[in-house]
Amino acid sequence: MSTLKDKLYQELALKVATIADGINFDPAIFKDLDLGGRYQEEVHCLFERAYETHVGVKFPVGFYSPHGIIHPLRWHRRSSYSLILENGVYYLAHHGKIIYPVEFLERPKYYGLKTSDGVAMQTLGVYAQYGLVSVAYSNECSLKDQGQDCKFCNINATKETYGEAENIGWKYPHQIGEMLAAAYRLDGAGRFNLTGGFVAERREVEYYLDVADAVREHTGLDDFNGTVVIGAPHDLSIIDKYKEAGYRTIASNIEIWDKDIFKAICPGKELQSGGWEHWVKTLEYEAKVFGRGRVRSNIVAGIEPKDSTLAGVEYLASKGVVCMATTWCPNPGSALEGHRAPEPEWFYDLFEKITGIFRREGFSYEQIYDCSAGIGVVHDFYRIEDELMPVFKGQVA
Ligand code: SF4
Repeated sequence: MSTLKDKLYQELALKVATIADGINFDPAIFKDLDLGGRYQEEVHCLFERAYETHVGVKFPVGFYSPHGIIHPLRWHRRSSYSLILENGVYYLAHHGKIIYPVEFLERPKYYGLKTSDGVAMQTLGVYAQYGLVSVAYSNECSLKDQGQDCKFCNINATKETYGEAENIGWKYPHQIGEMLAAAYRLDGAGRFNLTGGFVAERREVEYYLDVADAVREHTGLDDFNGTVVIGAPHDLSIIDKYKEAGYRTIASNIEIWDKDIFKAICPGKELQSGGWEHWVKTLEYEAKVFGRGRVRSNIVAGIEPKDSTLAGVEYLASKGVVCMATTWCPNPGSALEGHRAPEPEWFYDLFEKITGIFRREGFSYEQIYDCSAGIGVVHDFYRIEDELMPVFKGQVA
């Protein structure tokens, strides 16, 4: 007889598969779903993750499996996985055969509010569940001006497609402060990740410090549990300023561990931000300033060989850096559009091994939660292994 944990691992494997392969559905199945009312809709603050764009047609952001594993919804018409609607119930299916019923994620209350200057709060920060708000201060990256944007990234294409349609633009510190105060007060949120593309002339330091002041002022919290995401600065002493400003954690995304592949895939990070060695040095310095387990990096998994990614995760973990990996979804508008990512099993094995590395290095769930941009598969492994999910207390989600 399979145990609860067995069932959760099966649902987790399906999550990994449906991110890697996407899910096919007819957008018309959401016609009667209370999207933007009871259920949370997708907002394109940074990237389009679907296989194709769908401007003007709203999709749910994700759903729960029967035992509470959150699946993000990634549309791909040619996937063998599908979402179907039968007698008012939505199901995940494979090759047309029902696997299980799903429940869409509920919309947070702050999504229905506006800032004092009239900006819809849902365009300022996406609710990533589990009390985490993902704030994108900008939805563009200046690396594009020199044709040096990362090859897997579609931030600028997403802005061109959705920026005006969804009213998403540059955010001001007071707007972020007001939005987070509402999310913390109304929706039980308790931390945020602040990110965006490269800013021309690298003026982000002052901006990030202003955001910290605004968040403190509006939430009334000195320790507001924020992660600041930065490109490797030429002058590393800048990193101390973020710590002094009150950010609990910091992140710099190296994206690729193999030095030569990094050069080819991330030309702007190589040419304008000191190159691969400098990114590694930056992460090591960040761990000295912020402490072990208080620094995050990320590798876009599936572009380089698995061994290389794992070597990077292992090396950085030994320096106190939590290096996550995210599933490469070749997406519309990126230079790698039309490419294919590895098989779902490849990703599952990678995430399981990364979890093992983090365990050996002694990272706690609280540490990996506090420095994350979202709740990924490695978090799910921890939540199952440590019985942290609501289902262990008899609740579904
Ligand atoms: S630095 Fe690279 S990954 Fe980040 S927004 Fe710019 S192009 Fe995208």
